[in-house]
Amino acid sequence: MVDEKDATAGSLGYKPDASKVDKTKFPKFAAGQNCGSCALFQGKAGDAAGGCPLFAGKQVAGTGWCSAYSKKA
Ligand code: SF4
Repeated sequence: MVDEKDATAGSLGYKPDASKVDKTKFPKFAAGQNCGSCALFQGKAGDAAGGCPLFAGKQVAGTGWCSAYSKKA
């Protein structure tokens, strides 16, 4: 799993719990967004964790979020 203290996680504002996102630093965050509904998430909808190309070799939480969030079409 990605540690939110990793350098990449820090610069992307990744949090395993989307409700903990720093909304002052990342005003684009909107409630309801999470990795599970992100186009880059490699797990299935509802999976607790899955891969993300921004964190190669690791897994992000389905409930997580980072500033590269892009809603799945
Ligand atoms: Fe989660 Fe998407 Fe950010 Fe990857 S790019 S950590 S799936 S919000």
